Order: sequence, then structure tokens, then C-alpha cells
Amino acid sequence: MIKTRIETVNEKYLDRKVLAEAGNILKTGGLVAFPTETVYGLGGDALQRESSRKIYAAKGRPSDNPLIVHICRWEDIGKITRKIPEEARKLARAFWPGPLTMILEKADVVPAETTGGLSTVAVRMPDNPIALALIDAAGGYVAAPSANLSGKPSPTLAEHVAEDLSGRIEMVLDGGAACIGLESTIVDLTEKAPVILRPGFITRDMLEKVLGRPVGEERSLMGMEEGRAPKAPGMKYRHYAPAGEMTVVAGKEQEVTKTIQRLADEKMRAGEKVGILCSRETKDFYRADRVEAAGTREDEAEAARHLYALLRSFDRHHVTCIYSEAFSGEGIGQAVMNRLLKAAGYHIIKTGENRRESE
Ligand code: AMP
Ligand code: MG
Repeated sequence: MIKTRIETVNEKYLDRKVLAEAGNILKTGGLVAFPTETVYGLGGDALQRESSRKIYAAKGRPSDNPLIVHICRWEDIGKITRKIPEEARKLARAFWPGPLTMILEKADVVPAETTGGLSTVAVRMPDNPIALALIDAAGGYVAAPSANLSGKPSPTLAEHVAEDLSGRIEMVLDGGAACIGLESTIVDLTEKAPVILRPGFITRDMLEKVLGRPVGEERSLMGMEEGRAPKAPGMKYRHYAPAGEMTVVAGKEQEVTKTIQRLADEKMRAGEKVGILCSRETKDFYRADRVEAAGTREDEAEAARHLYALLRSFDRHHVTCIYSEAFSGEGIGQAVMNRLLKAAGYHIIKTGENRRESE
């Protein structure tokens, strides 16, 4: 067990002493969790293989799942990449610092441990003064996946990090709530055309506007494949998963609320503890052990901000069964829906189509 120091840092009045200490921990091979605008990151020196190994161990993450390298100055990208495509420059100018990760060809200084053995590297410049100051204090290159235990929802508060990683890392910098609440958009720039590997706050439209050409989307983004049931629940890769069995219900609002309530009633009668994740507009329709509104229908960014904390709150209350309304699939709603489906292991019921998928 390591003793984990928790330090509160104000992003307007950066405590240089604490940041220098945190930077030193990283330089000497230790781990520090820190706030970013997306979610909290678990940082280690990206150029030391031992640091990356420690990150995997602390999270319990499979070591073939690569880490994102965080930088604090555009110029620093040259050292860790083999070539810098013009499109990377354009995207950085438009969106960095910000919630966009780019996949590029990696240079030899980046150890295979950091990239999960790949010849490419994921790079991002976060839009948070504490994160930027920490990266600078650490020497410029901080590998950081989300600071949760593997399989748990990503942390949007320092309390979530402490819940998962206390005793496993040297320090947590507490900078308050993450303002976006979902992980960065990942775009692969190593192929002929740019491809979105993970949706986030920066949407496909925004990328296409800057690049002036079509941007692809990985086919599996919004499901295992429409209409195809996963073979066995245990075989599904549940990435962002609450402890309770989760189902997303899509369709017209009235049908959705009716279906969720009917299923919730059945489960409660069977002795399950049921949680419902909905919008403020529909909250009053439901009766269950816990009913939580993630936000309003009009502002899906609000749902993005609250989603992971609500999933964790279901865990804390030992909810065994969760039903969630679906989101629009437009703009940030697409990222919310992508994370919901992952949390649910792609278990979705489509009302009004007379069929149930993946049940
Ligand atoms: P996390 O930081 O926990 O959100 O996880 C980082 C994400 O970036 C994971 O989904 C990785 O699979 C992805 N990633 C990191 N590096 C690469 C890479 N070189 N190529 C493709 N995906 C990557
Ligand atoms: Mg993660």
C-alpha cells in the first residue's frame, strides 16, 4: 500500500509548490491523478516504461490497451511522433488545448509499454491549467488514462479517484468537477482518411469543418452491430460499467417511459433494487428505488457532465438493475449514447418496433 496524498489545487491560483512536488513524483517514476476538462487522468511519465507498467497495475487495466500521452506545448509533439501531418497542425490550431486526441506515428523514444505495443501514439493537450502546469513540471510528457479502476465509470470528481485508487498511487490533485464529463474524441490520422475511434465533445461536423473533407467513423461506435445480440453477457467487453445490470431503452418518449416503468415494476416485484436514469422532463413519471435525471433533453452536455457520477451513485446504493432512457445520437448526445451503450454491454430495447434486441 502506498500512502496517497490528496492536495486541493485552485486552477486560478496555482499552488506552484504542490505542482512542483507532483511533477517530481512523476519524474521519479510515481503516479499522480489530476483533473482535466474531460475526466480525471492517472498520470505517469510517458517516456519511462516502468511508469506505464505502474499505471496498468494501479488500474487493473489490460496492458494491450494503449495510453494517451498528454503534452502542454505544441512544439513538444515533434519528439514523440515520427511525422506531423498538416491535418494534425490544423486540428491542434482549432481544438488544442481541448478534448481531442490524435493518433499519430510514434517516435522511438515512446516505449512500447505506453502504446500497448502499437507503432502509433495517442496525443492530447488538455484544457485545464492544473493539468498543463503538472505536465510542464513533469518534463512535458504525461501518459494518462482515466483515473478509475478498469471497468468502472471514469472519474469526474477527485472523490471518485480516491474511491478507486487510494493506496495505489502517490498523489491526487483535486481541482473540482470535470466540466465536460466524458473522455476526449479520438481521431486517427495515420490512415488515408481521418477516422473517429471514439466520439466525444468535438464532433464529426466540427472536425470536417476544419479539415474540409469527410471524416470517417469506426463502424462499431454505436453498437456491436445493429440487431446482432452479443453471444453471452460474460463475453461482452463492459468498459464503462456500473455494478448493476444495465439496459438502455430507445424509442418515442411515451413508449419509453411506459416500457421502463413496466420492466422496473417487474424487477422490483422480483426483489431487485432498481435505478432509473432519465431526463428532467420525464423524471416525475417514474417510481423506482432510485430515479435520477442526468439533465434536460435540450442540453445533452449537461447529461454528459453528470452521467458517470450518476452511474457511480447507483453502485453506491447497491442498485442491481438499471434502466436508462436513450439519448439523441446528435452532437454530444452521440458520445453520451456511446458511453451508455458500453455501460450496458450494448443491451438495448427498442420500443415501438415490436422486437427486443440483445435480450
Ligand atoms: P482512456 O485514457 O482511459 O480514455 O483510454 C485511452 C483510449 O485511447 C483507449 O480507448 C485506447 O484504446 C485509445 N488509444 C490510445 N492510444 C491509441 C492508439 N495508438 N491507437 C488507437 N487507440 C488508442
Ligand atoms: Mg478509461
